[in-house]
Amino acid sequence: MKVCVIGGGGREHALAHVLSRTADVVVTPGNPLIPGSTSQPPEEIDADLFVVGPEAPLVDGLADRLRARGGLVFGPGADGARIEGSKAWMKDLVASADVPTARHGTFSDRAAADAYLDTLGDLFVIKTDGLAAGKGVLVTSSRTEASEAVADYLSGERFGDAGRTVVIEEGMTGPELSLLAICDGQRAVALAPAQDFKRVGDGDTGPNTGGMGAYSPVPAVDDDLVDQVMARFVEPTLAALRARDIDYRGVLYAGLMLTPEGPKLVEYNARFGDPEAQVVLPRYSGDLAALLAEAASGSIESRPTFIDDAAVTVVCATEGYPVTSRAGDVVDGIEAAGALDGVIIFGAGVARDPSGQLVTAGGRVLAVTAVAPDLASARARAYEAADLISWPGMYARRDVAAGVGGT
Ligand code: AMP
Repeated sequence: MKVCVIGGGGREHALAHVLSRTADVVVTPGNPLIPGSTSQPPEEIDADLFVVGPEAPLVDGLADRLRARGGLVFGPGADGARIEGSKAWMKDLVASADVPTARHGTFSDRAAADAYLDTLGDLFVIKTDGLAAGKGVLVTSSRTEASEAVADYLSGERFGDAGRTVVIEEGMTGPELSLLAICDGQRAVALAPAQDFKRVGDGDTGPNTGGMGAYSPVPAVDDDLVDQVMARFVEPTLAALRARDIDYRGVLYAGLMLTPEGPKLVEYNARFGDPEAQVVLPRYSGDLAALLAEAASGSIESRPTFIDDAAVTVVCATEGYPVTSRAGDVVDGIEAAGALDGVIIFGAGVARDPSGQLVTAGGRVLAVTAVAPDLASARARAYEAADLISWPGMYARRDVAAGVGGT
């Protein structure tokens, strides 16, 4: 089978890495560290299966366009991708499916938004309605900061049109869990749970990012909890999508918070998480290309299976991420890091300079994954590898997967 993966980050590298165990893989546009990368646009590639990685092309209808040309596509159409592309639409959808989530309101008017803030407790959450690369969410206990953020978002200056409508939510507390389900329009099967680290700083401090690290499995999440999430969140949501005539074939990624009142939905994404993909997929022990092709053709037959080994990924970012990022610094040490047992270096914001050297080209530059018999050794190995890599100002969180699995 020939598979075309669309995208060029760490998630697409992980997809390509695992898909290539059983399929021929090309990646467009890919990046210098992903084998099979090509600048040919997907519409010009002849493939048995297209796998769309990032949210932006899904929201923009790339899966529809490829399907219209007769392609077999893993990824929802623009209608289903609204689950990620509009938080206000998603909240309406899940309300119709009776899925537990935070109390919330949707606003385009500052005075109404401010009045709603007054009705909340002491933790305020402000979100852009539209896509903002994981950076459009503010969680704060400061009423003043919440109000300032609303003004800033609604003005359009900070996030453009994505922020001209905001969703305001009550703040929830508890550990977070990412559960990714593979959907064929009718049914969904769960992948292994993962936990990611969204804040930029150690101890969950600083602004939200696209994700600074992840680990899988999650010791706190047993099969019963996975079944509960499928029954209470994923399946009703898929049914609500069907009720709106949406044939959702792709990943439904449920971001949940395990609150004192039980699990509640934080968000849905329409694609594999990045960096969750970099820990979940390397643990996949079946034929991933076959599973995604089954989902794309509307009939999942395979049951996802995973190795018992654990995986930890540490994202190496440029100085200043997510506020600023610096490009063009030479990346050293990836050969030595990649030679360590169980280590895979996934390229994200990387490019080649005119002399052919690997240089930084984006906020999140690499995801350094280690697979080992348990979380503590995977964590130790991932940091051992990350510590061999350097460029001026390289930054990584130091506490990814700390305190889980006996560390
Ligand atoms: P989202 O893009 O909606 O996943 O939000 C990004 C992150 O913001 C989540 O992973 C949570 O850490 C945090 N967050 C979002 N919504 C809430 C909420 N209602 N209460 C507390 N934290 C939240």
